[in-house]
Amino acid sequence: MSAPTYDLGKLHGGLRLAAHKQESTASAITDIPLPAQLMLPLQQHAGEPAQPVVSIGDRVLKGQVVAEPDGEMGAPVHASSSGTVVAIEQWPVSRRFGDKAPCIIVATDGHDEAFPPWSSGDYRAMPPADLLLRILDGGIVGLGGAVFPTAQKLMQARAMQADYLILNGVECEPYISCDDMLMQQHAGEIVGGAQVLMHALCIDACLIVVESDKPEAIRRLGEELAAASDERVTLKQVPTIYPSGGEDQLVQLVTNREVPSGGLPTDVGCVVQNVGTAAAVYDWIVRGEPLISRITTVTGDGVASPVNVRARIGTTVADVIDGAGGYRDNPRHLVIGGPMTGKAVSTDEVPIVKASNCILVLNDAPQAGTELACVRCGECAAVCPVQLQPQQLHWYACADDEHKLREFGLIDCIECGCCDLVCPSHIPLTADFRVAKGRIRELADEKARAERARQRFEARNERLEREHAERNAELAQQKETAKAAGPAAIAEILARKRGDKNEDDGA
Ligand code: SF4
Ligand code: SF4
Repeated sequence: MSAPTYDLGKLHGGLRLAAHKQESTASAITDIPLPAQLMLPLQQHAGEPAQPVVSIGDRVLKGQVVAEPDGEMGAPVHASSSGTVVAIEQWPVSRRFGDKAPCIIVATDGHDEAFPPWSSGDYRAMPPADLLLRILDGGIVGLGGAVFPTAQKLMQARAMQADYLILNGVECEPYISCDDMLMQQHAGEIVGGAQVLMHALCIDACLIVVESDKPEAIRRLGEELAAASDERVTLKQVPTIYPSGGEDQLVQLVTNREVPSGGLPTDVGCVVQNVGTAAAVYDWIVRGEPLISRITTVTGDGVASPVNVRARIGTTVADVIDGAGGYRDNPRHLVIGGPMTGKAVSTDEVPIVKASNCILVLNDAPQAGTELACVRCGECAAVCPVQLQPQQLHWYACADDEHKLREFGLIDCIECGCCDLVCPSHIPLTADFRVAKGRIRELADEKARAERARQRFEARNERLEREHAERNAELAQQKETAKAAGPAAIAEILARKRGDKNEDDGA
């Protein structure tokens, strides 16, 4: 194992925020009891919703596929315990657009009977392409929050011949500590996952990156790397600055390669995976357990005992908080995710999904100050990790000027919220940017749909013209042949033509 190295940040902007992590890292990860019902949303990944392959009344086993991916960007959904499908219906969920989504609802039977586990034998004997397909079957998506299907990301990285695998253990958002606890308690699975991923990617260099304020995680990873004695893997420490865990920021920080505007880490030879994703890959490929549970931080002054829990996918937030010790005082504000990038929800009936890294419960909702006019102080630009000009972007977002928003790089905004925090005029910059990005995406989708329709229309016209020309040529040829053969043959062709016409009319 290489000795841990330390980088003095090359990150532009960013903020040092009060961490609030010690509350939830004081005790070990606890398991949430099996709930009476599991709500399994069909869309827990970046692509189209998965398609159910079970019906109401079916008995399902733990680890069984209950919904198959639909399209290239899909991921399967697995039952997280045994039981009976009692409904497939809309249920409250936490997501950016819309508050309900179709879910498969399973009444658990308490037996927790598992689907026969799959075993690859030694994955190193598998061709990398087969291993990638196998990872797809495990329903694994990026657990850092983006929920991009992992197999797809790896396939793109292979196509781009990436040469660096970066495991992201930089959990920079306040309150969230699930990755820290995973690294402390399951470092072996992370190192094992790195090795599986390197085999699938045909890559010989991996960096596991952790912030320097996580000494126990660094110690445990160091031990596991020493035990694995794998020279390809290096443990790297970085300073604790928000948002150094953003993919592009991390790549810049540890490799000094700059991801181009609108580009991806693979454009500069890097593929980034969250440490939780690496552990999930290990659990699936080596132990045969698909992604049916995850570690989630339960924290904030509105819960009795902040802690990290392992909860099955589909467990409601109410059941998780119950299993973690319950609410405290008079909780008023429930957020799925952290305070900077999380989403406030109005009910604790939403289920834990693959992306749920944190449940934050606060007794007082953060008070937004009264919004004032921009005073052009430049604070927002100084902290923006992407080196954008948020004040300019805000101006163009208000004017709905898509062209200027693109020109000024809105598409590169990672919605980190740093600009909001420092703005003395309390302008909700990030929320405005989120809406503007959504509109730009919608416009792009509309344009793509219109382009596809135009291509279909032109292809149809071309086909009809070609068929028409072929038919005319065939008739001309027949006439020539008939002329040469005499009047009887002409009469036969005309009779045949009349027959064709009658058939067409009948159809
Ligand atoms: S921080 Fe707020 S007030 Fe200052 S320039 Fe940016 S948007 Fe304007
Ligand atoms: S939310 Fe966007 S514009 Fe604001 S600081 Fe973060 S990246 Fe920059």
